[in-house]
Amino acid sequence: MTIVPIPAFSDNYIWMLEREGRVAVVDPGDANPVLAVLQERGVILDTLIITHHHFDHTGGVRALKEKTNCRVVGPDNPKIEGIDEKLGDGDIVHVLGYDFAVLEVPGHTLDHIALHCADESVLFCGDTLFVGGCGRVFEGTYPMMQSSLAKLAALPPETAVYCTHEYTLANLAFARKVEPDNEDLLAHASKCERMRAENIPTVPSTIGRELEINPFLRWSSPAVIAQLTHEGRFEGGSPAEVFGAVRAWKDEG
Ligand code: ZN
Ligand code: FE
Repeated sequence: MTIVPIPAFSDNYIWMLEREGRVAVVDPGDANPVLAVLQERGVILDTLIITHHHFDHTGGVRALKEKTNCRVVGPDNPKIEGIDEKLGDGDIVHVLGYDFAVLEVPGHTLDHIALHCADESVLFCGDTLFVGGCGRVFEGTYPMMQSSLAKLAALPPETAVYCTHEYTLANLAFARKVEPDNEDLLAHASKCERMRAENIPTVPSTIGRELEINPFLRWSSPAVIAQLTHEGRFEGGSPAEVFGAVRAWKDEG
């Protein structure tokens, strides 16, 4: 599967999958950079995939649909204009001949979905899981977000994680406050700093890598629990409560 990023706004990636002259585009917040790439590469827009209703993920849908007559698949949410096929948990959606399984991952928003292609080990997860971080919990609850992240964490470790924002350096700076002695984290932070200095995207990551470095998936880590306890932010509890304490800490900063 050929996947390339189309940068948009200040830190969004609009992911484009290409197969035999046709493309699918994930979360087109802005139509203009997408139209420019379609023209440059001489490809036909087949499908738009939407992960959730936020404007920076949907703002380009109307213009792209009008100009190209593409199909649009996404959450079952009337707030999103132009969805042709509404997707829910357990659905399989065919895009450019690939099969994607739909996972409902509420928390950042209530309508948020992620799409997983097991054959190609690819995950599009919007604003749910980031490199070294996760989306803010705007509409759901911390336990809801934790159980959504647990669904993603259970995917095969080699799964490539295509999220929508380049928030990595800020996320890893926070992650180092949570786990100052995590060697995998320190090594990954140096690598990402070098990549950003050369303007290389730090996305995709992998599920396996995120399990090693992402404090929002490390609710079972004794080091994370010890640090939260040391900070007076945690008095014992479930994985959802560990997650909630980490998320509340990040939200302060
Ligand atoms: Zn969002
Ligand atoms: Fe976003």
